[in-house]
Amino acid sequence: MSEIHDVIIIGSGPAGYTAAIYAARANLKPLVFEGAFESGGALMNTTEVENFPGFPEAIDGPDLMANLRKQAERFGATLITDDVTEVQLTGDVKIVKDSEDVEYRAKSVILAMGSGYRRLGLPDEDRLSGRGVSWCATCDGAFFRDKPIAVVGGGDSAMEEATFLSRFGSRVVVIHRRDELRASKIMIDRAHRDPKIDFAWNSAIRTINGENSVQSVTLEDTVTGELRDLEVNGLFIAIGHDPRSELVKGQVDLDAEGYVLVDGRSQATNLRGVFACGDLVDHTYRQAITAAGSGCAAALDAERFLQSLE
Ligand code: FAD
Repeated sequence: MSEIHDVIIIGSGPAGYTAAIYAARANLKPLVFEGAFESGGALMNTTEVENFPGFPEAIDGPDLMANLRKQAERFGATLITDDVTEVQLTGDVKIVKDSEDVEYRAKSVILAMGSGYRRLGLPDEDRLSGRGVSWCATCDGAFFRDKPIAVVGGGDSAMEEATFLSRFGSRVVVIHRRDELRASKIMIDRAHRDPKIDFAWNSAIRTINGENSVQSVTLEDTVTGELRDLEVNGLFIAIGHDPRSELVKGQVDLDAEGYVLVDGRSQATNLRGVFACGDLVDHTYRQAITAAGSGCAAALDAERFLQSLE
């Protein structure tokens, strides 16, 4: 039988690493599953983070995450760069399995899997992913130098992506289902001031067209139903995120949108010894600092829970 750890943390964004720092400093020797391909979480896909306290000159997302990771390791967290593929969380001893089916056991588990990009759900979206369809402007923007680009969405992420992409594209068209944006005023003003950015209002994408790469999208006017083609080579989808709660569905209580439910001001889930934090539980704030804050709270809750077992 494998050793029973005090705490296993699943996820390596600001929530997971902060939980790891607190748990490690409390001498709980946490085991952190970082994910196989995306360790560091959502901020690995961004450049400057200007609103994380303590960095008056801003810090690049990957640098911030490398610092958090180093800080967790310094206090004794063990980092495993792999996905958790299965969990059994209902018993007193929790079981977590990695991608090779190796079992790890723990008295408590902190869930910090964050959220994933939402897809449009169109038939050619996956086929043309990496061939013009993208969810990450900072990763893929440079491939579309002097080419026409479209961004789908009406929130802050869509405005951020569009403003960033206008450095590269010959033009950037923001495609939005409605005739007004959800984004904050400062982001909207920035996009409106950019001479390369145009808006396709009341427009929904019906098809993404192209044999080997994106050549155009067909838009439907959401008011008149009229169809028209828009020539683009890059299509960036920025329509939000869904919590990555699939792993714990059926064991941990989720709300109607799939977010993990926590009890009051604590990070405790419905299962004893199981805590959750970050974007996985958060409809409202969804910031690096709030994710980090709830990661701290989850580790403190786990520490108190472990003390109660003694
Ligand atoms: P995430 O950062 O999403 O991390 C979750 C991690 O869990 C991932 O590494 C994933 O691989 C891992 N994981 C998931 N499932 C498993 C599994 N089964 N096994 C192992 N690991 C798993 N916020 C700000 O405050 N300021 C900003 O400037 C800012 N800019 C942003 C720019 C972009 C492009 C994006 C997408 C987000 C931005 N945010 C910003 C929001 C911020 O990144 C998130 O709120 C924050 O990262 C959430 O942290 P998290 O730890 O909950 O989850």
